[in-house]
Amino acid sequence: MLVSACLLGVACNHRGGSSPSTSVTALAADHRLLPVCPEVAGGLPTPRPAAELTAEGRVGTADGTDVTDLYRRGAEHAVAVAVAAGAAGAVLKARSPSCGCHRIYDGTHTRVLVDGDGVTAAALRAAGLPICSEEDLEGSGVLPWTVPGA
Ligand code: SF4
Repeated sequence: MLVSACLLGVACNHRGGSSPSTSVTALAADHRLLPVCPEVAGGLPTPRPAAELTAEGRVGTADGTDVTDLYRRGAEHAVAVAVAAGAAGAVLKARSPSCGCHRIYDGTHTRVLVDGDGVTAAALRAAGLPICSEEDLEGSGVLPWTVPGA
């Protein structure tokens, strides 16, 4: 199972912190977890300026710097790791411009959420992997794609 590294306690997010999730770490009881941070893998430093994905498919920081290529490189790395490992799916950090699935910020840096996937989440989904966020696990601890009819 591919997992956003920050959910396993790796201090790799844009603030230099992590977002450990007990629901995600509990998956280690019956899954092999592969931590990946696409933004670091793409070549970005930690900490780094916050960025958002726009409706035009570009990733930019609040000061207007375009970091799309680095985000795409990180997404390619995540897909390559998932394919090489034969990952059964991915559990990804909610709302990240890389890892967010279902809902992300809209690219205006005004904390507005819209439907959509981050760059890596979209690439993993396009590669055929089922994906979910840590918030999808909270409460049940069950991977959504293992639920009949989900
Ligand atoms: S790119 Fe993904 S793994 Fe890396 S800090 Fe952001 S949400 Fe976490």
